[in-house]
Amino acid sequence: MTLRTRVLLLGVGLILAANLGLGAVMLAVQRQQVLSEVQLRARTFLDVLGVATVGPMAGNRIDVLDQQLAALIEQNLDALDIRFVAIVDTDLRVLAHSRQALYGSTLGDAFAREAAARDLSLVRTEHDDDGETLLVSLPIQTQIPDEHGIRWGTIIAGFGLDRLSSALFRTLVGSVASILLVTLVAAALAAAVLDGQIVRPLRRLTQAAADLAAGDLSVRADINGRDEIAHLGETFNQMADTLERNTRSLEDQVRTRTSELTESNRRLCEVNDRLQHLATTDGLTGLFNFRHFDATLRAELRRSARLSAPLTLLMLDVDNFKDFNDHCGHPAGDEILRRIGEILRSRLRATDVPCRYGGEEFAAILLDSGKAAGIEVAEELRQRIEATPFEGEEHQPGGRLTISIGVATFPADGTSVEELLRASDRALYAAKQAGRNRVVPHETIDRKEG
Ligand code: GH3
Ligand code: MG
Ligand code: MG
Repeated sequence: MTLRTRVLLLGVGLILAANLGLGAVMLAVQRQQVLSEVQLRARTFLDVLGVATVGPMAGNRIDVLDQQLAALIEQNLDALDIRFVAIVDTDLRVLAHSRQALYGSTLGDAFAREAAARDLSLVRTEHDDDGETLLVSLPIQTQIPDEHGIRWGTIIAGFGLDRLSSALFRTLVGSVASILLVTLVAAALAAAVLDGQIVRPLRRLTQAAADLAAGDLSVRADINGRDEIAHLGETFNQMADTLERNTRSLEDQVRTRTSELTESNRRLCEVNDRLQHLATTDGLTGLFNFRHFDATLRAELRRSARLSAPLTLLMLDVDNFKDFNDHCGHPAGDEILRRIGEILRSRLRATDVPCRYGGEEFAAILLDSGKAAGIEVAEELRQRIEATPFEGEEHQPGGRLTISIGVATFPADGTSVEELLRASDRALYAAKQAGRNRVVPHETIDRKEG
């Protein structure tokens, strides 16, 4: 059940209850007033009749009594709803009656007996088959000042109250209808006021809160006025302001921190790259250093073993380099090493790994290359270096700077790093022994040794 329905039901209930209560009280008061009026008129009627009947009673003139009774009933029939009028003697015998058939009979009802026994007037309301009746009695006695008069008899009259009851019932129906109408109008007014003042502002506030909860920080409640709901709306808007301000500031902070973090991360990567480069590169030639060579050879040998792929290792050494240094100086020797590094880099494939092994010795790992391919590459390198003019090489034997190369292949010449290094070393040594400036595959020296 919505708030509006609940408040409306409560309002209608309260108004209805209040109006019905008020109506009931007013009806009771009105009934009492009308009843008093009817009683007054009835007693006046009986007083007039009482005065008129004393004489005929005293004179025993029953005919006059009848006439006077008939005349008075005639006069008051409309004003008083007379049911019956009876004049009885002290023994309750009927001397005159509005219903002539009862003449001479004796009244025996409780009211008549009580009325006859009293010196004063008696008034009572009774219900019988004819409806509600107001019973009134008046003793008939000679009025002598300061003396108790002679009691001749009693007048007993009954007045119908049904007209009064039906008039009051009509009033009641009219009142109830008016109450219902007033209640309906009041309910409609209350609904309109409730809708405008409470329900709609509350709905707007609820919608704003839902939008805010869904993430729309710019939403504000549009509620005017100075009542509690307007105050609630104002408080909500202040809360939304604070939330928006804080969120924006938090977002700015996060953005700033993120960009700072990205920048420092980038710098860290650069440093890392540089360190990585320094850790794996030879400073003079720019080729990979021994550390990287060793690690790569171990990893690549494992891969070659797993894939059953060949791998060839070249071990290169500058011929008579001590002499060159002696003639041309160390810096010139360094330049030779740098240029040999360039020649290695330019000839080998991107997947091959050229390294400075140490001093004037170089090594190259040729991936996925068998012996024949390895010898071919080694021979080409040797020829290129022999053909390349180097400053100061004229002092070398034969007037040319040359290199010797030992070649060893996995798995034919060795399956471990140590075996392969040993094999390539021995092949290089054999090349030196054979007169330098040549390529010697390990296979050939094995055969010679064998
Ligand atoms: P071989 O043909 O038998 O290899 O004779 P070699 O003179 O080259 O060999 P040896 O081992 O006797 O001498 C190697 C020389 O290489 C000694 C050293 O002066 C030179 N050398 C080693 N490292 C460097 C370097 O970084 N720079 C320069 N300029 N020379 C170096
Ligand atoms: Mg050497
Ligand atoms: Mg040498």
